[in-house]
Amino acid sequence: MPEIGLTPRLLARLEARFPGKVAVGHAGLNATERQADVLRLLQDEAPLFVGVRNAVLAPLKDIGLVIVDEEQEGSYKSEEHPRINARDLAVKRAQLEGCPVVLGSATPSLESWHAAQNGRYRLLRLMERPAGVTLPTVKVVDLRECYKEERKKVVFSPLLLKGMREALSLGQQCMLLLNRRGFENFWMCRACGKTFDCPHCALSLTYHKGAYRLRCHLCGYETAPPEVCIHCGAEHLRGVGEGTEQIEDQLRALFPEARILRLDRDTTTRRGSLEAGLLAAEEGAVDILVGTQMLAKGHTFPKLTLVGILNADMGLKIPDFRAAERTFQLLTQVAGRAGRAELSGRVLLQTYSPDHPAIVHAVAQNFEGFAAEELPYREALGYPPYAAMSLYRSEGDTPREALEPLRALRARLETVPGLRLLGPLESPIAKVKDRYRMQLIVKAASRGPLGEAMRAAPLEPGGAVTLDRDPLQFGV
Ligand SMILES: [Zn+2]
Ligand SMILES: [Zn+2]
Repeated sequence: MPEIGLTPRLLARLEARFPGKVAVGHAGLNATERQADVLRLLQDEAPLFVGVRNAVLAPLKDIGLVIVDEEQEGSYKSEEHPRINARDLAVKRAQLEGCPVVLGSATPSLESWHAAQNGRYRLLRLMERPAGVTLPTVKVVDLRECYKEERKKVVFSPLLLKGMREALSLGQQCMLLLNRRGFENFWMCRACGKTFDCPHCALSLTYHKGAYRLRCHLCGYETAPPEVCIHCGAEHLRGVGEGTEQIEDQLRALFPEARILRLDRDTTTRRGSLEAGLLAAEEGAVDILVGTQMLAKGHTFPKLTLVGILNADMGLKIPDFRAAERTFQLLTQVAGRAGRAELSGRVLLQTYSPDHPAIVHAVAQNFEGFAAEELPYREALGYPPYAAMSLYRSEGDTPREALEPLRALRARLETVPGLRLLGPLESPIAKVKDRYRMQLIVKAASRGPLGEAMRAAPLEPGGAVTLDRDPLQFGV
């Protein structure tokens, strides 16, 4: 499983089907529980083992089948050394154990899909939906048209408001998604045009109204919002880009009678609060659920009939060649939240780019259409699955200190045939916690030359440069 939050539901299902035969392994268990489960495994009392990520290394004997659920999930990949992708490790382990591995997904990664297309993997299709699950109807709301009509920025389109009123009047639930927390994304000065950035990171501070704080979402730095511009002293400060906190405020004004619950990283810091909130929504104690993408996964709300995606384009702007793929996956997952019970659901997807392939195919819930359109771009630009990549990173107290080790590395890699070297350049976020960050991207037509590169320029453990093979995160 990709995430701990998804395991209780799966466990309940498995226990119902195979009582007493399921062992669990994940970091949330205490040592005794873990030990007990490992003992059961070793004694062959539990033929089914469910775990998160590194559980793929569990000490099992005679493995007959490995299943990786939601194989496209980025959370399989550890973003800390040694940066292992548990999905890829599962494939390798199955190979070593001589057993099949099933990669399950409604929106496969393009790497896995490509492997299935060229015969390296075998494609098995689930042609029927589970009982009680119907496809919701998805409708696009063009925010450009809304802007033309209202002559101002529209957060809730008239169609969305109408749909919400209808659903609420029938006692049904609505879910609204916006992938940005806080009240306003950043503050700027109308006089000098400058923004208020974190003093330790190359990132704007986000305004949190409830806490009355400007906060850095990278390092946790926070400060009281200034009365006047810190750059020029002018008094005309303006917040830009609404976040979930503001959406909640606006919803309370629009629907004073409704029971509204916001779930994002700010409201779920206490342990168990996310689960408690989701449970309340499942039991019907919430009319409008608003939050970030943490709402997109795996939960079933029986009375949910309307899902509103407030700004579907947000993820498309991230400087990452997988931005379109991730947006497609997220939108498809979110759309799947509506209509999972007896009531049929609908999804309103607000966007400024209704013609973008990720949006068009998410609306049609057409994975193969999306893959057919996206893969030729990847091929033309030399990105996975048509190429292999390594990402070398380095940090320093000054930009120069971060740059030098990568320059030296590049000089050594230039002797290795078959590599394309991009950089060293500033990382997309050039400074975090007072450390400057640089990166060198290395591409090759296959994995061989990247292994060659590791031999030609071995990295010192604990040295200035770190390596990410098959990187998934480029935006930070
Ligand atoms: Zn100013
Ligand atoms: Zn910061």
